[in-house]
Amino acid sequence: DTLISQIAAGEVVERPASALRELLDNALDAGSTRITVRIAQGGLDMLSVEDDGCGIPPDELPLALARHATSKIASLADLEQAQSLGFRGEALASMAAVAEVEIVSRRRGQPGARISAANGRLGEVAPAAAAPGTLITLRRLFHEIPARRSFLKSAATEAGWCIEVFKRAAIAHPQVAWSLWQDGRAGMQLGPDSSPLGLQRLADVLGKSFAEHALPVDARIGPLAVRGLVCRPTAARARAEVQQCFVNRRWVRDRVLAHAVRAAYADVLHGALQPQYALLVELPPERVDVNVHPAKSEVRFRESQAVHQAVFHAVQRALAPALA
Ligand code: ADP
Ligand code: MG
Repeated sequence: DTLISQIAAGEVVERPASALRELLDNALDAGSTRITVRIAQGGLDMLSVEDDGCGIPPDELPLALARHATSKIASLADLEQAQSLGFRGEALASMAAVAEVEIVSRRRGQPGARISAANGRLGEVAPAAAAPGTLITLRRLFHEIPARRSFLKSAATEAGWCIEVFKRAAIAHPQVAWSLWQDGRAGMQLGPDSSPLGLQRLADVLGKSFAEHALPVDARIGPLAVRGLVCRPTAARARAEVQQCFVNRRWVRDRVLAHAVRAAYADVLHGALQPQYALLVELPPERVDVNVHPAKSEVRFRESQAVHQAVFHAVQRALAPALA
């Protein structure tokens, strides 16, 4: 039973960055306005997310860590089935199966409390002093599971992936104040972005060398909004490799979008330039399936031709001044 839960958990929590993504999703779901991320040794020693969201009442702390789907994962076939469903409701339970997890939380108007779990064993709920919100700390990921541990990379590489997850969340949620601490040192500190298009956050996260050469994208085509920054051709040699797409506030990897951007660059600039861009596409939820596979961040558009056209025209228009 422990083995199966550890196998299943490994599919959800593959490495520190995937744990971080789940923790950030939870913090955002809780309606947080301020989120602080701390990592030590690339998250291999310690990874924590602190938020000022709705908090978890003391009596619900064990539930937050409990495995919902024990009975489902009885066979390998079930395991594959569960995988395709994305383990919804399994993130914290999975972390508790493969690491040490501590939750300190307080809901406004209620006492604060803490609970911890280590490698599948749940501790008792105890009173704790806490600010409203939730602090979840993960320690010693995969320490008890050498087979899983061997897939982890160096602390520097894991840290890089964690920072990537942090940046994507910060771009997707400009109204939230974000703070990153790495091995005790302050990393990105981002106040809420109140700029009209929410593009200040993009510039802050992607850095000066990108933002200096970037042109704003801001187009509304029918039910579709396309915002973002695209780099001028002069900056195509810039070292920063930025090719980021977000759909309805989720970072995604999508061929339709990437192709549309490349086509617009080719159309305007006629050269074999590597597009550098960060685009935020928003459309009514019924026109897109997000999380076709939660781990891969893919989307499926209902009318991909229309999306392609909209993005193509938005980027084409944004790049036009670069010709002048
Ligand atoms: P899911 O998010 O799919 O429900 P998780 O395992 O990620 O599953 O979280 C379990 C539950 O714990 C959530 O449904 C939520 O009730 C609670 N929870 C987790 N993180 C937070 C948080 N940061 N703030 C408030 N509640 C949280
Ligand atoms: Mg979750």
